[in-house]
Amino acid sequence: MNRARSAAQRAGSEYIESENDDAKTIPPLLHPAIAKLIFETPDMLRSLIGRHGSPLNLMWPQILAENVESMRSTLRRQGLPFALFYGAKANKSPALVRAAVEAGIGVDVSSVYEMRDALQAGIDGRMLCATGPAKTRAFHAALIANDALIAVDSPEELDDLEALVCVIAADHPTRVLLRYRPHGQASSRFGMSVEALVSCLQRLAAMKQTFAFEGFHFHVGGYRYEARVEAIRELVEFIDMARGLGLAPSMIDIGGGLPVRYVDAGRYTAFLRAQQPHDYRTGKVPASFYPYGGELGAQAWLDRLLASPCIGQLSVARWLGENGLTLAIEPGRSLADQTGISVFRVTRAKTLAGGVLALFVEGSSFSACETWFASEFLVDPILVAVPRNDAPASTPVRAFIAGHSCLDDDVITHRLVHFPAMPQAGDLLVYANTAGYQMDLLENEFHRHPMPRRLAVGRDAAGGTTTSPDDCKEYWDDFS
Ligand SMILES: *Cc1c(COP(=O)(O)O)cnc(C)c1O
Repeated sequence: MNRARSAAQRAGSEYIESENDDAKTIPPLLHPAIAKLIFETPDMLRSLIGRHGSPLNLMWPQILAENVESMRSTLRRQGLPFALFYGAKANKSPALVRAAVEAGIGVDVSSVYEMRDALQAGIDGRMLCATGPAKTRAFHAALIANDALIAVDSPEELDDLEALVCVIAADHPTRVLLRYRPHGQASSRFGMSVEALVSCLQRLAAMKQTFAFEGFHFHVGGYRYEARVEAIRELVEFIDMARGLGLAPSMIDIGGGLPVRYVDAGRYTAFLRAQQPHDYRTGKVPASFYPYGGELGAQAWLDRLLASPCIGQLSVARWLGENGLTLAIEPGRSLADQTGISVFRVTRAKTLAGGVLALFVEGSSFSACETWFASEFLVDPILVAVPRNDAPASTPVRAFIAGHSCLDDDVITHRLVHFPAMPQAGDLLVYANTAGYQMDLLENEFHRHPMPRRLAVGRDAAGGTTTSPDDCKEYWDDFS
């Protein structure tokens, strides 16, 4: 721990990086609260795994609140009206949704279940936003009843909504955004073409008693802020057109996709440069990775986006300001940054043909899912070894990591991960920063293994660590 801390201080880093100079290793950046649990109280980790099984997902909801605060301070510096909606699909944790609601931000929900979590956390229905492309009639009805903001994905969805609104005869206009499909995403199935957008604007202008048009939405794939700037520039003329039609747009919602740094940027570049086909059990380096160690964090990304030229002499921030437009953002992964870890217990190590080492853990590739996308979660798990009196002299080893799957290609990492010593049965592997999509996107009950438990970590009045259940409602009966 002291070594880790001094390394972080040398790097001037906000987060603590464990020390290892080998370009073949890629240690995670850790929030200090998480580093403290892992390195200062490993017994607590072991006892939690003993009680709740492996894998175990641990959440720090208060870190989401910290992430909200730093995003807010970046946006406040710009002097712009803004609205944040937590993209709840990044993680199924009800505690993260509650933390978002308690921090006073909105929630972007894509199903009645995500919406239920937000309502149970006490959200004001007007702070709900629904951007998903395939909303059902029941979901539409629930959104209307809660006076939520609905991002309409197509003229066909507007047809459905219009028919429903006529039946419900709500006492207030239904609040809508129109989802635009930027030129750069021409083949995407999300959002509308220019023609469809114009036709929806004209329809909305003729139905002002029924619909309150609040502005435009888009969400583009990839992590470049430049792609969002282009989409905003494309929307400039439609803000003017909407006003010409007597509508009063007040918002541009730029979706999510703010980057997260999992590892130090310099370290990441060196790692990518050094990796070789024989670093993988497949003998092949995957074609693409999430940018785990990008140059920009979420705050710098936002600053660059807002400072980019928009139209004439105006930056994006100035154009939004002069038009009285609220900048809405729906960060998922970047608000979940550092809020969760996944802990696996080692079953055994096994030597295969050619001396390749396989490390078996209790858990599966569904619990850390990047191999299902023909890629890898390029962050080293942290080995938390059981203290042993008869510890053999530690010799570094490398091993790929397999779970309990009986499918040959279904492993947690194809990459041969470097360990300072041979992992033993009962040791723990901690995957850091798994909350954004890694943890439970694909989680299931393969081989009849029950769903992993999730616990929220907090502090009691005396400053001690507490844990409380944070499972999805639908599993409560299984666990009680
Ligand atoms: C998934 C999604 C988000 C969140 O994206 P992140 O990359 O997690 O920030 C926001 N908006 C929409 C419409 C989405 O589909």
